[in-house]
Amino acid sequence: MLPAILINPFVEKPFGRQTEMKQTIIIKCTKCGGLMMATKTQKTKICPYCGAHVNLEKAVKVAAAKDSFEASTILRKLKSEQGFPSRT
Ligand SMILES: [Zn+2]
Repeated sequence: MLPAILINPFVEKPFGRQTEMKQTIIIKCTKCGGLMMATKTQKTKICPYCGAHVNLEKAVKVAAAKDSFEASTILRKLKSEQGFPSRT
């Protein structure tokens, strides 16, 4: 029997077509608590506020969006909510 060398294992990958819509998550910096966006393919992200290398697996995921546009909308909303220090 011949090995099936002509079959490309990547062809049947179910997520192969989702390159245009990058799922974007909003995470909390493990150091300063600042909110930032990251794509799911990223492993680390440098915090724009404190410069810390944030491990996306350890960071708290605040929200998930279907693309970066939606994520920025959510992020803006979250930030405006955070603007009230006396919220309960
Ligand atoms: Zn930070």
